[in-house]
Amino acid sequence: MSAELATSVTASLALPSVQAPALTLAFAVLLLTNLLVKFWLASRQIRHVAQHRGRVPEAFAATITLESHQKAADYTIARLRLGLVSTAVGTATLLGWTLLGGLDVLNSTLRDTWQLHLPWAQPWQDLGYQLALFGAVSVIGALIELPLDLYSTFRLEQRYGFNRMTWGLWLRDAVVGTLLGVAIGGPLLGLILWLMAAAGPLWWLWAWAVWTGFSLLMMVIFPTFIAPLFNKFEPLTDEPVKARIEGLMQRCGFASKGLFVMDGSRRSAHGNAYFTGLGAAKRVVFFDTLLARLSPTEVEAVLAHELGHFKHKHITKRMVMIFAVSLVAFGVLGWLSQQVGFYVGLGVKPNMSAPNDALALLLFMMTMPLVLFFTAPLMAGFSRKDEFEADAYACTHASGADLARALVKLYDDNASTLTPDPLYVRFYYSHPPASERLAAMSQRRASA
Ligand SMILES: [Zn+2]
Repeated sequence: MSAELATSVTASLALPSVQAPALTLAFAVLLLTNLLVKFWLASRQIRHVAQHRGRVPEAFAATITLESHQKAADYTIARLRLGLVSTAVGTATLLGWTLLGGLDVLNSTLRDTWQLHLPWAQPWQDLGYQLALFGAVSVIGALIELPLDLYSTFRLEQRYGFNRMTWGLWLRDAVVGTLLGVAIGGPLLGLILWLMAAAGPLWWLWAWAVWTGFSLLMMVIFPTFIAPLFNKFEPLTDEPVKARIEGLMQRCGFASKGLFVMDGSRRSAHGNAYFTGLGAAKRVVFFDTLLARLSPTEVEAVLAHELGHFKHKHITKRMVMIFAVSLVAFGVLGWLSQQVGFYVGLGVKPNMSAPNDALALLLFMMTMPLVLFFTAPLMAGFSRKDEFEADAYACTHASGADLARALVKLYDDNASTLTPDPLYVRFYYSHPPASERLAAMSQRRASA
């Protein structure tokens, strides 16, 4: 799109200006509906799981013991309760930053101190203060979330026998994660802030292009350079499994070097398998915890499921969708950041002596999840459809019975509930419940 065209499109839309009181009201209503819907859904799920705690569902009676069914129920409920505490804390924090004036106080303090006491930083003054504001908000946010994070790992996961994390490893992860965040996030943020200041009214289009390029780059860099900073990824060595897998990959037309085993057991007993990456960085990853539990034919079936995701181009489709949504989001931010009402309506006085770009970005990033929350059922629905497609692919290229057995083991080992609330599933579940997946598979076998 040329600059003239885009400007005329914006002009012809005749976008209204934001009125602060109306925005405050809309924000408050969104915040409240988010909170109510989340509590309502979670309480439905808790009730549903508790009601079905007494008996293993018919379809699983032969494979799952009552003891592990009840462990799954208790674990699911404990996680939901922790989720509710985290929702409450998150809502209070958001309210604290915005309408209660937290961001306003932090911003004016930081801005004035920076301008008064760092005269040597003059040429970089605006960028420096804005990066510092982002850093301060991130650090405070992380400190607020810290107790819940620690409780989740060292109490809840520990109680159910899943935690393998030591304090030393936790600390190391925190340090490496922070350094990475600064090294990667810092320059990206600096570039976007610079575009906001220097690229004119269409900065948001440039920023979107930078963001999109960055996301594509991360798809290549993450699996090959970043994930290995936290885990070991090794090629599969077990000969009988390897032979089956190479046969499958050849049948499906995949390069066999893309399969890795990850030492997930360093941090947790939870098992999983996933697919990731783009182009040459494309790979399927098995957790060692899952691999240890599956027979060679079951490993083959799970791998066939992951290959199904590649065959159906699920990663590419997801990326295209995310890029389209983020283009709209950047466009909306481009409009909002020009409106005094946007800042005032969310409890922040815009700067007179410094750019407002960091403030606009922060307010947008804080409030956007409230809007995106209502698209969760749509996204989860797309994702569940992908899972059914991958299952179907696995059933035609490997054994459906093996995939079913592997799935039941995966649910059992992770203490995932077999009796979720149907509405909760529709809203949140990225994967269909075990019962639906098994039913779809046996239906396919019956009709074949
Ligand atoms: Zn899948």
